[in-house]
Amino acid sequence: MHEWALADAVARYVLELLKENNASRLERIIIRLGVLQSIDKEVFMFSLRELFRQYNIEYSDEAIVLIDEEALFRCRRCGYTWSLNDLEVDEAVREAIHFIPEVVHSYFTCPRCGSRDFEVVKGRGLTIGEVVVK
Ligand SMILES: [Zn+2]
Repeated sequence: MHEWALADAVARYVLELLKENNASRLERIIIRLGVLQSIDKEVFMFSLRELFRQYNIEYSDEAIVLIDEEALFRCRRCGYTWSLNDLEVDEAVREAIHFIPEVVHSYFTCPRCGSRDFEVVKGRGLTIGEVVVK
């Protein structure tokens, strides 16, 4: 499962960090999930808690913070940069993009020059922000 594999990567990272710092408790971890990454947040959270338990990582419920990372695009032709929020996007399209990020190119063109040749700069994948251990 996609969510499980991602959660496992995060849990192993935390485990390493605890060892490195001679710490025993995870105080806080900020995880940014790209809106173009098709992650089920509930499944991800469940997997993370389960893995923390398996790895004997102590943490409080408030320690895990999930943040949505907004998508950002850049046109390869004119260099214009825009986010998903700048566009009028209906829910159905948003859903489609969420589940199959590869379809963005069939839904959008550059708002300035109309080119379909744009790249996804942000909003894909998972990044770990601040981590505090004790
Ligand atoms: Zn453009």
